[in-house]
Amino acid sequence: MIPNDFIQTLLARVDIVEVIDRYVPLKKAGANYAACCPFHGEKTPSFTVSPTKQFYHCFGCGAHGTAISFLMNYDRLEFLDAVEELAKRVGMEVPRETAQRNADPEAQSLFNALEAAQRFFQKQLQQTPLA
Ligand code: ZN
Repeated sequence: MIPNDFIQTLLARVDIVEVIDRYVPLKKAGANYAACCPFHGEKTPSFTVSPTKQFYHCFGCGAHGTAISFLMNYDRLEFLDAVEELAKRVGMEVPRETAQRNADPEAQSLFNALEAAQRFFQKQLQQTPLA
């Protein structure tokens, strides 16, 4: 889990045009950038990237999203990996789980419960030769 405001800050710092341009060369088209869509086969560009709105949209196949979803869909990254990848590029550190646990008492107790359950199962495993 990554705090939502971190995601917002990250997306505000990352330039989606720069991110996508590394994978799919973009051409300026008016206020936006355009390219042939990497998500479906086409000969005329219907894939656009908006530097002001910071999202991409394809009029051909309907692909749509942020820099994070682009990396997830194009590079097949997991959400966390996509966030890490973008954070690295802009020199931000992804908040660790521990920081979050301390900040949220409800998550903290849930986590404690999970840890207790895990310890219980580990103990059970040690006690039965079948395991
Ligand atoms: Zn498309």
